[in-house]
Amino acid sequence: MNYDLILVRFGEITIKGRNRNRFEKMQLDQIQTVLSAFPALTYERAFGRVYIRLNGENYASIAPILKNVFGIVSFSPVVKVEHDLERIREASLTLLKGMTPAPSTFKVSVKRGWKQFPHNSLEMNHLVGAHLLRNTPSLTVDVRQPEAELKIDIQFEGTFIYCVQEKGAGGFPLGMNGKAMLLLSGGIDSPVAGWMAMRKGLAVEAVHFHSYPFTSEQAKDKVVTLAKRLSYYSGKIKLHLVPFTEIQTMLAQSGHDSLIITLMRRIMLRITERLAEKNGALAIVTGDSLGQVASQTLVSMNVIGRATTLPMLRPLVVMDKLDIIEYAQRIGTYDTSILPFEDCCTLFVPKSPAIHPNLSVVEQVEEKLGEALSRLIDEAVKGMEVVVLSNKAEQQAASAKSEEAEAEDEWF
Ligand code: ATP
Ligand code: MG
Repeated sequence: MNYDLILVRFGEITIKGRNRNRFEKMQLDQIQTVLSAFPALTYERAFGRVYIRLNGENYASIAPILKNVFGIVSFSPVVKVEHDLERIREASLTLLKGMTPAPSTFKVSVKRGWKQFPHNSLEMNHLVGAHLLRNTPSLTVDVRQPEAELKIDIQFEGTFIYCVQEKGAGGFPLGMNGKAMLLLSGGIDSPVAGWMAMRKGLAVEAVHFHSYPFTSEQAKDKVVTLAKRLSYYSGKIKLHLVPFTEIQTMLAQSGHDSLIITLMRRIMLRITERLAEKNGALAIVTGDSLGQVASQTLVSMNVIGRATTLPMLRPLVVMDKLDIIEYAQRIGTYDTSILPFEDCCTLFVPKSPAIHPNLSVVEQVEEKLGEALSRLIDEAVKGMEVVVLSNKAEQQAASAKSEEAEAEDEWF
């Protein structure tokens, strides 16, 4: 089917009164960013919606990407015609006949947003429905549970006809609610937490602490792959890779084995807070989930969280592991997360980590490490690598693949 446009409908932002215009612009920017691999597309904004003109691009390549854009409630591939009954009838018939699999029942739903159109919606239902019935002998009307619902939306800017409505990712447009730093490990949880934060409108920069050469190059690659996967939803993502070996070695030699995870996490937060200040982020997102491991008891979270004054966002805190895994599979991070490469923290895990660490003991240990620790923190920040990962190459590959498939098969 040759569609002219994609009609994109916005979600939660429509309730935001006065800021609506700015948010809609952010939403459009975000759509343009994730679709930058398709330069032929052009965009038009209308009230509460955006029209993407395909200009010959393939809808089947674009739909899977659009499904992942936060803030979009739904979208439809549409045919646009002039305000003319015959044109509307003709386009409706072509659209219905082109549907695969072919439906056996249908109904017509007309919305007349532009009241100057000479027929009201009820008349239009009959005028178009009768035309479709006359020209499709195998089709009948079913107003309750039709296999195909042909929608005709008559607006000032034209008449839009469609029969498919895809569900969007929901949430808010990326960046609408500010920026946060994401503590990204190689595990299952933190990529899911990052995705959830992004869905809620937070732009995210990722921070990963690695213990190269104690941990392998593959362990680092794994985190890069995870961040890249997240960039699929945001267009691009900045990843800060912080060398943590020296700090961990110092902590391991400090003689406070059971507190090492607590101490490590607090230092991670201090470093992340610095990066947040530099990059305009106002919160820290982690994949903590209550009770999962020793560092995720309420007592641990308290002692760890006190190392920063920034709000700690823990989207998974009350979620069940099985649900988190389901999300990880859905967003495409699970298979990478379960690859068996050592994380910096697993290397230094003590036999019995404290599940009830004591804040004043922790603070005393940190004071003892004093200057030497601050110096190592400075060095870690200096030695940091920053990479910006983008989804563009992946998208182009995916789009080439779907065009190939289309050549072989009429439907896709
Ligand atoms: P994950 O699956 O995200 O690794 P987890 O259940 O294994 O989580 P922990 O390893 O205790 O739990 O980590 C808790 C959180 O601390 C992680 O979700 C992540 O946000 C952060 N974190 C842990 N290790 C690192 C690391 N090496 N670099 C950056 N952040 C980390
Ligand atoms: Mg982990």
